[in-house]
Amino acid sequence: MSSATRRNVIKSAGAGMATMFMGAEVLDPRQVLGQPTSKDSARTNDAPSNVMAIAGHAGDAFFAMGAPVAVATHSGGQGSLLSLSLGEKGSSVIPPARYGKMLRSAAQKAAALIGANALFLHYPDGEVPVNNEAAFAVCDFIRQYKPETIVTHWKGSWHKDHRACYDIVQDAVFYAGVSGFVRDYPAHEVSSLFFADNWEDATGFVPDTYLDITPVCDRWLAACSAFPMWRGETGFRYNDYYASRAVACGCLSHFDRAVCLMSPEGQQVQNTRAL
Ligand SMILES: [Zn+2]
Repeated sequence: MSSATRRNVIKSAGAGMATMFMGAEVLDPRQVLGQPTSKDSARTNDAPSNVMAIAGHAGDAFFAMGAPVAVATHSGGQGSLLSLSLGEKGSSVIPPARYGKMLRSAAQKAAALIGANALFLHYPDGEVPVNNEAAFAVCDFIRQYKPETIVTHWKGSWHKDHRACYDIVQDAVFYAGVSGFVRDYPAHEVSSLFFADNWEDATGFVPDTYLDITPVCDRWLAACSAFPMWRGETGFRYNDYYASRAVACGCLSHFDRAVCLMSPEGQQVQNTRAL
């Protein structure tokens, strides 16, 4: 089997995504034997998906996690992007209070462009706490919006808010699924979790899943451009980075444009039927 066929590749529009994002994958055994029947190993169905991005900062939600959300909405599913903090301390020239308003406005505009909901918690930038209050707050959003799939930060990040988000999401998914935790909304089990490709979370990030974003790529990048730091205004050229990553991931997965994702270890189990 070539290295390319070892990767999970998810053919566009929520179809394959809805199925692939269900945890353990059932593969055609001929693939396991090294005879892939097609370049796409994903099963497909027609069910639209519901994807939630949960990020430390509003920019991360859209830049690193927005494309899978856009794929879901494009296919008639639902999408939401939850920011734990606005990221208001990210500018060295614009005061945090003003910059935070700009980021919130940008997130709302960007979400509208991809047909998704912009959701916010209000922790100060750099001070996202890892505690039960935060985990239950995220749990409540999960129960309210009922995503099948969550995309969030990988823990190998230099940014403390990103690491905090990783931890919070683990607990929030657990709390959301257990009916014994009585909240305003009933329990909801998240089917699958993925970690996003983020330049700040690169330590130990090993992608195993490639999602075709070709139909939504232009719209997603246009949505990202609503943000005041997108073109390098704060020192990092997000536009060039994420647009070129979409091309590079597309090359690796035989799609025109793609994003790569990483699964939790327990979600990588594959079940193979006998012939
Ligand atoms: Zn961030």
